[in-house]
Amino acid sequence: MREKLKHELEKIKAEGLYRSLPDIDEGAGKYIISGGKCLLNLASNNYLGISKKKELVDESAAALKAFGCSSGASRVVTGNFSLYNSLEKEMADFKETESCLVLNTGFMANLAVITSLAGRHTAVFSDKLNHASIIDGIKLSGARHIRYRHNDMAHLAELLEQYKDTEEKIIVTDSVFSMDGDRADLAEIVRLAEKYGALTVADEAHATGILGGGRGLARELGLEKRIDVHMGTFSKALGSFGAYIAGDAEIIDYIRNKGRAFIFTTSLPPAVIGANLGALKWLRDNPSCGHRLLEKAKTVRIALNEAGFDTADSSTQIIPVIIGDNFKVQQAGTLLEEAGIKAGVIRPPTVPDGTARLRLSVRLDLNDEEVQHVISSVRRLKNA
Ligand code: PMP
Repeated sequence: MREKLKHELEKIKAEGLYRSLPDIDEGAGKYIISGGKCLLNLASNNYLGISKKKELVDESAAALKAFGCSSGASRVVTGNFSLYNSLEKEMADFKETESCLVLNTGFMANLAVITSLAGRHTAVFSDKLNHASIIDGIKLSGARHIRYRHNDMAHLAELLEQYKDTEEKIIVTDSVFSMDGDRADLAEIVRLAEKYGALTVADEAHATGILGGGRGLARELGLEKRIDVHMGTFSKALGSFGAYIAGDAEIIDYIRNKGRAFIFTTSLPPAVIGANLGALKWLRDNPSCGHRLLEKAKTVRIALNEAGFDTADSSTQIIPVIIGDNFKVQQAGTLLEEAGIKAGVIRPPTVPDGTARLRLSVRLDLNDEEVQHVISSVRRLKNA
């Protein structure tokens, strides 16, 4: 067994896929301090740069002081802190849904949703580029896992037709894809779901705080009432940690009662709930922040496309710069670091083989000069 582990690790290294964890002093802020260097942070998902805002820090500190460091146990055992009620009510209000449930992470939210709703007799239709937690949720549920080609609605329609006699059907999709920054065709997904009688689950992790006045892509498209389960995170644009699901009271109640990733885990500590309340307040006070961020990202994307870079179908703050080779992408990441910029260096299995890429997360707090510096630094990679 030990020999096998050693061999596998050596193989991972030989393929340029080894992952190490560099020492950093701060990860979510505008700058990452790493190895004594201060780098512009285009690697984090703190897209709005709000993790240190007064609204979040003050509410977090107040909750910490009032309730201490721990929530004690699972909420189904010890009961609910009033803070939880406030956050779930605030979020349901914001999303204009009947109900909301807060979960510990986005990963666990997807596990809870999918394993609750799907079982051996369910067919789950899932975009090939959906997040790993969706894939793992489907596997764990024992459902039939039916993957459709990325954003290929004709393929989805074909598969739904093939399974039309299966009574229980779910279509699940990221709304903004985490490594490509493109958007799901939610209008067509909803139309097909209604035609074939499927439930819909939208993972709005990267759209929350950005699209639809912060409420997500479904809201931006006016489809929010036609999605059954809206999942989103506090850990990305909202600058904090944790996740929520929102929908009608019955479906949320069902997941609350069936979701093992909710029931069998200690709930988030009060300080995190406080920060999440502060983040929601900040978002309500700054409704145009997502739009401003998208404009900034558009400037970067257009300039990179003009310079001949492949940014896939990105139309959001996430801009992939497709390099292809696992070693070349690491070199590109190092060159960007020499220019003072930290980008995500993304390799398989996070993305399909042959599509290794730099992942630029454009941030709202970049000024014009910094935007231009990012553009010129990436452009220089062409000559490297
Ligand atoms: N869904 C998507 C689309 C994601 O990108 C991520 C995080 N990368 C998650 C879920 C998991 O969220 P969390 O980090 O809160 O576990």
